[in-house]
Amino acid sequence: MRAIPPPLLTFTDVLNTCVGSISCQTLTQNINAINPQLNNAVQDFATKAATADLFKIQPFTGGDDDIVAGHVPKKQLKGLYTYHMVPARKPARQYYDQIMMQAPLLICPFCGFGQVTTLDHYLPKAKFPLLSIFPKNLVPSCADCNKGKSAGIAASKNEQCLHPYFDQGHFVNEQWIFAQVIQTTPATIRYFVQAPSHWSASDQARVNSHFDDFKLAKRFSIQAGDEISNLRGELDIDFQINQQTGVEQALLKKCAGASLQHKNSWKTAMYQALASSNWYCSGGFK
Ligand SMILES: [Zn+2]
Repeated sequence: MRAIPPPLLTFTDVLNTCVGSISCQTLTQNINAINPQLNNAVQDFATKAATADLFKIQPFTGGDDDIVAGHVPKKQLKGLYTYHMVPARKPARQYYDQIMMQAPLLICPFCGFGQVTTLDHYLPKAKFPLLSIFPKNLVPSCADCNKGKSAGIAASKNEQCLHPYFDQGHFVNEQWIFAQVIQTTPATIRYFVQAPSHWSASDQARVNSHFDDFKLAKRFSIQAGDEISNLRGELDIDFQINQQTGVEQALLKKCAGASLQHKNSWKTAMYQALASSNWYCSGGFK
């Protein structure tokens, strides 16, 4: 997981631009008429996000044609995003692109390795239609993370995956993703979560939820498998020069470099596990 800065766009700018591209006058009037409800929803989100209480926002349980506020049904609120913010020819597409660019190098903040190709609704628009175009509810995401999370919603604080705009600090600065080496040929890496014991019980539960929601154990393991096959030739040279110590030192150096960049990445945990595996460093890498 990588923390990224929240977009500085105002909800009003995004809303007005989306509404400005609607051709139906009645729909424009109907959406303008629910401005107070939209702003309340956005305010509520901002307040609850600050204390990791987004799960307390009540989902809308009605269908696409059911009214969410005033005369506006769910499908038209979802449509603000789908038809007025996503399409390349719409003026609000500039905001969509700006939010995508919040992720440095377009690397997905949820998994830390996928390429950003879409925006994920942290609170899904199907259940929280008033938040369908709220910038802080839109997070740059890779396709796998976007699909992995789908429309499931957290019923408690513990079930909330991390929000890259709001969950910064210790979630980023302290290590909670670890790995161990499995003695196979070639070696494989098994990832697991071990949150610092001084964290609150809910923070510990949340990193576990994040890890499970995005299926990171399996996806990290695949990334590691590729890197391990690339490492073989390089470590052979280190082994020839200084045997097991040479391999350990090379891996520790890579671990330090990766950790400096991101404490919780598949790379940091992988190099840490490889460097501390006697079996791997003494020849298991071959
Ligand atoms: Zn991702």
